Amino acid sequence: MAYTLPDLPYAKDALGEYMSAETLTYHHDKHHNAYVVKTNELVEQKGLGGRSLSDLIRHANSKGDKGLYNQSAQIWNHSFFWLCLAPPEGQKPTGRLAEMIDADFGSTDNLLAELKKEAVGHFASGWAWLVLDGDKLKVTSLHDADTPVAYDEMKPLLTLDVWEHAYYIDYRNARPDFAEKVLGNIVNWDFVAQNLDGNGVSRADQDG
Ligand code: MN
Repeated sequence: MAYTLPDLPYAKDALGEYMSAETLTYHHDKHHNAYVVKTNELVEQKGLGGRSLSDLIRHANSKGDKGLYNQSAQIWNHSFFWLCLAPPEGQKPTGRLAEMIDADFGSTDNLLAELKKEAVGHFASGWAWLVLDGDKLKVTSLHDADTPVAYDEMKPLLTLDVWEHAYYIDYRNARPDFAEKVLGNIVNWDFVAQNLDGNGVSRADQDG
């Protein structure tokens, strides 16, 4: 068995002007796939087959195997990221998620502003995150390939890829525009709400 590149959960042109088919072709078919290929090579070399992706990430982290950690974490991060997006249909947080956002941030607009600030302020490559820490929502970011899979106190709810490869085709160097347009228009809030059960890691996991 080997890890595989999960299909996108929508057509490549479904995210409209906010994330083009060309971006998805490069980002999913080339960048994301390269992490899958490289991880499978490393797993074979090291004889580490048969683990779920999340177990492999935690194993690499516990052994200080930075190369394997980076590659495998990027499979999971991207798999989760695609699930966080949906075609622009005016979606907003509802129900318990909306209540928690209002309690912890005051409003959805404030949360989006916090996430944008985190995404824009994050130096160099990485990922901006909305996570559940205990029963509180928290905005944070992690560098390079680092992932909530490796941290028990970070239950992943929503992420934004802020590596330059995520936005250079549609937004050139303008990370602030990318963050604002994506967060404001194509977040799959139903998926984010589902992750309030604390099982977000499982949704982008796969068998090895
Ligand atoms: Mn990426």
